[in-house]
Amino acid sequence: MTIKSAAAAARATVYGYPRQGPNRELKKAIEGYWKGRVTGDALRATGAELRRANWRQLAGAGIDEVPTGDFSYYDHVLDTTVMVGAIPDRHRDAVAADPLDGYFAMARGTQDVAPLEMTKWFDTNYHYLVPELGPDTVFAADSAKQVAELKEAIALGLTARPVLVGPVTYLLLAKPAPGAPADFEPLTLLDRLLPVYAEVMADLRAAGAEWVQLDEPALVQDRTPAELNAAGRAYRDLGALTDRPKLLVASYFDRLGEALPVLAKAPVEGLALDFTEAAAAHLEALAAVGGLPRKRLVAGVVNGRNIWVNDLEKSLATLGTLLGLADRVDVAASCSLLHVPLDTTAERDVEPQILRWLAFARQKTAEIVTLARGLARGTGAITAELAANRADLASRANSRITRDPAVRTRAAAVAEADAHRSQPYAERTAAQRAHLRLPLLPTTTIGSFPQTGELRTARADLRAGRVDTAGYEERVRAEIQEVISFQEKTGLDVLVHGEAERNDMVQYFAEQLTGYLATQHGWVQSYGTRYVRPPILAGDISRPEPMTVRWTAYAQSLTDRPVKGMLTGPVTMLAWSFVRDDQPRGDTARQVALALRDEVNDLEAAGTPVIQVDEPALRETLPLRTADRPAYLAWATEAFRLTTGGVRPDTQIHTHMCYAEFGDIVQAIDDLDADVISLEAARSHMQVARELAAHGYPREAGPGVYDIHSPRVPSAEEAAELLRTGLKAIPAERLWVNPDCGLKTRGWPETRASLENLVTAARTVRGELPAS
Ligand code: GLN
Ligand code: ZN
Repeated sequence: MTIKSAAAAARATVYGYPRQGPNRELKKAIEGYWKGRVTGDALRATGAELRRANWRQLAGAGIDEVPTGDFSYYDHVLDTTVMVGAIPDRHRDAVAADPLDGYFAMARGTQDVAPLEMTKWFDTNYHYLVPELGPDTVFAADSAKQVAELKEAIALGLTARPVLVGPVTYLLLAKPAPGAPADFEPLTLLDRLLPVYAEVMADLRAAGAEWVQLDEPALVQDRTPAELNAAGRAYRDLGALTDRPKLLVASYFDRLGEALPVLAKAPVEGLALDFTEAAAAHLEALAAVGGLPRKRLVAGVVNGRNIWVNDLEKSLATLGTLLGLADRVDVAASCSLLHVPLDTTAERDVEPQILRWLAFARQKTAEIVTLARGLARGTGAITAELAANRADLASRANSRITRDPAVRTRAAAVAEADAHRSQPYAERTAAQRAHLRLPLLPTTTIGSFPQTGELRTARADLRAGRVDTAGYEERVRAEIQEVISFQEKTGLDVLVHGEAERNDMVQYFAEQLTGYLATQHGWVQSYGTRYVRPPILAGDISRPEPMTVRWTAYAQSLTDRPVKGMLTGPVTMLAWSFVRDDQPRGDTARQVALALRDEVNDLEAAGTPVIQVDEPALRETLPLRTADRPAYLAWATEAFRLTTGGVRPDTQIHTHMCYAEFGDIVQAIDDLDADVISLEAARSHMQVARELAAHGYPREAGPGVYDIHSPRVPSAEEAAELLRTGLKAIPAERLWVNPDCGLKTRGWPETRASLENLVTAARTVRGELPAS
């Protein structure tokens, strides 16, 4: 094909669309089904209606090829597990008895059977259900869902492309099944899995698919030569099939790197690549392999995971460059639109001018269509869209919101010394000991206490105007009183106020910081029927007034014991928000850090002797490629130190992390220079204590001895045993005693009993220490 006809053929497509419906109809139907209020048939009807509505909307907007199979009642990786017949043994009976109930049993567990494990989908906040595979796994094709959904779309007269998780990614995301050897590598099952995919391909072709998309995002991570070989083999074998649709292998979230030549050589008809953050790397790599002369290239130029309006001219330039490099170039979002909210026009409280900077799924769809039209017919065909886009980008670039001179001047003036405590740890710790006078093995908690129904009702009452601010705050103070008196009575050493005033550890701060934006309907699927509304880091960040000081000070006024102030750290504030794309993340983190630094300093000035800055997300936003990690860790740890670097030596800085394995970031944890770190550890039997010790971690640490993810109450003896294990790695002078994480999801009865046992355990083990 010549370049001109390649351009003329440009089509608009997407890989997936938000599933829940404009009013979260799917969530309501599924939860209704779980409670027995909605029948299976009614749930299926809702699902079919939402799929139809999405396809009609996409096609109506000008999308030439709609995705199918991306819809899910819970998770598309779990759907893939069903498609390949890898149902765990413990769920087989339930699935056989009723496929829908069995499906939800795998997702959520039942009274008797544990669910599949859930974990984050690459570096997004979407969680998938982890396939469990072992040497005995027998795969069997079940293409029913894929085939049925394809037929539904075709019946609407649409050109549709089934989207599936590819076989290599599926295996790389799996973990050894219970009972399988711990070192079992699911990828060794590839030869058994490929025939199943072959069968599904044949079924989809028979059902009318011209193309099938196989998603292989696992190939944007660092891969061993053996894994790259496996990918090459998979697509050689699938490509060699005769009874199959054309194959489009899709990758997203980063660059393909060494996997690009492998896929470029494979006998598949198309590749879909991410041209947002990975654009430069992909352009270079495509040139290096001599382009994709006989392939279709789907260019993900519209960012599928942020919420900012696209720079259409820049995208057109990228698309223009690509025209010479492939047989045909199509336009798409970089990944499924699952990761963004549905529609900005639903937002009523965002200023109209700012709303124009934002693009949710529906707006991104329009951008894709515009770009495909511009590519096919020239910029003359999209003059109005380009002019409007230029105006929106200019309004954003020149706004006081994105350019606050005071914030910028301050950030530019940050000196190396600002990100360091004034004294080294050895001197600080002596000052802190004198200041705090804590026993050995001091006990504390991670911050939140049970968020009772009454507290949630109080917040709802405040929002609905049933109670005024004064009345609401009275309720919060009563809660703080109770939490403080419980901790005193129980004998904890460093107390907390309990975080009763916080709806969410990020949103609470986002609502008070200038430059942050909240949405009313910006729901994004986190897992299953759980949706979150991440706030938007839209502009330069500043703190108009203290955010937590009065609550902490109030708590401190009730007790002689030290009360720990609680803040969410800059890295976590970014990780759980939509982040601006017009400056490096590190710059945004620095602005957030400076605002938090003021809060830390104000807490200290108000007499708070211990301040904890939580960074549970430090590990999860680690870049997918190892080569990108040092730069990330450099700005991330600097932001933390900037937050905490302004306090006196005798003020003790704590941090907290959870939800992760910490082994590969121990150096970064060390670089935070926090005086004390508390970490999740109960389930792994203090593994992290050994990792810290192996690294030579020099400061104080509290590996959790109480697993707060379960209502189970650990006995005092069990907690003591964990402490003794901890003492083998960390000396008594540096070991803290605490739960794994905050207690907000727990009930009061188990919290009370568990913390009493935790204090007893600390006392018992203190008694066993050699007298010094
Ligand atoms: N301080 C927070 C709490 O206790 C920490 C939460 C977290 O680590 N996710 O709730
Ligand atoms: Zn935690």
